[in-house]
Amino acid sequence: MDFDAQTRGVDYSRIFTQAIDRLHAEGRYRVFIDILRNKGMYPNARCFAGHNGPKPITVWCSNDYLAMGQHPKVIAAMEEALHDVGAGSGGTRNIGGNTHYHVDLEGELADLHGKEGALLFTSGYVSNEATLATLAKILPGCIIFSDEMNHASMIAGIRNSGCEKHIFRHNDLAHLEELLASVDPAAPKLIAFESVYSMEGDIAPLAAICDLADKYNALTYLDEVHAVGMYGARGGGISERDGVADRITIVEGTLGKAFGVMGGYIAADQMIIDVIRSYAPGFIFTTSLSPVLVAGVLASVRHLKASSVERDGQQAAAARLKAMMTEAGLPVMLGDTHIVPLMVGDPVKAKRISDILLAEYGIYVQPINYPTVPRGTERLRFTPGPSHTPAMMRELTQALGEIWGRLELRKAA
Ligand code: PMP
Repeated sequence: MDFDAQTRGVDYSRIFTQAIDRLHAEGRYRVFIDILRNKGMYPNARCFAGHNGPKPITVWCSNDYLAMGQHPKVIAAMEEALHDVGAGSGGTRNIGGNTHYHVDLEGELADLHGKEGALLFTSGYVSNEATLATLAKILPGCIIFSDEMNHASMIAGIRNSGCEKHIFRHNDLAHLEELLASVDPAAPKLIAFESVYSMEGDIAPLAAICDLADKYNALTYLDEVHAVGMYGARGGGISERDGVADRITIVEGTLGKAFGVMGGYIAADQMIIDVIRSYAPGFIFTTSLSPVLVAGVLASVRHLKASSVERDGQQAAAARLKAMMTEAGLPVMLGDTHIVPLMVGDPVKAKRISDILLAEYGIYVQPINYPTVPRGTERLRFTPGPSHTPAMMRELTQALGEIWGRLELRKAA
């Protein structure tokens, strides 16, 4: 399209090109790797970069943490649903798209978190944005207290609510209390935070935040996206593990990570579910999830409620990989979670390491740059699953050791 010819003076092409050039100049232009996973063989996959046909690779950065996206029960449930009812839901929840699969899954998710109800969205992003924006509009004069490391979808919801907001330092209870104490005690208040912070691999002090919420009469909104399916005896997340699920007003989760498929949800008192269902544009005005996806999630949630085998295997794999990286002198962050961040501190170097791993070793890990993480804390984020073997970990650690030497990168302190 010839923008210049059409646009009477505004040089659209130049503006778009400059926007992309800025990303190149900072070394954080995003390159998506073209892959196909092999059914039932995770973490093995094929990469379509280059001209020599697909190349076998090992995936180290998937958020399908437990490989449930390839679990035989999940695949069978999806095949059956496709066969029984076809591909799509056919409408919004209000207009024809409220299938029995959706109703069943909401019941299953409410039960998972010990709540009266749950509500499905097309993604975790949408559930955060739609719920936070709507809640704060419904509560007149609502003030939101938000952890500084909260996900972009929560930030978008808070912004779109137009309400007063206060950002507290990451997991800093004293700062949160100082801010809670500084506002009108009679104003409605909401504390928005995550349980597992996905880039740091650390965990919020849930019980202590609930204590502050009680003290200052605030509601709590907890993003358990990286924890549902992964923690707690039935996969109810950190709120289940820590025995505080009943103290969280709204739990939010994804169906695309540990549950291996796609979609998002909230779980809460029926009254709150009814408000969001009735007022949130991001819920109301969009086609509901395909029943095929919902059937897969149902199988996944039911399986992970009853089985801890995958969770335990994943935790063991993460502990083993952290130990091997530490042993090799690599600057791994040693949090308490399933996430293994390896610090690089420079976007160009992070990309270079990722490129070498893929081209020379058939190892795929995506570099994580600003704005996903603060500048100067660029990293590689490994998510070992139950099927990453010790041999794969040895191969990975050796490759990283060689690259660290070759590029003269900083070792662990
Ligand atoms: N919350 C957090 C903390 C996330 O990391 C993400 C996605 N990475 C989301 C919400 C959005 O979830 P989804 O991918 O299901 O849209």
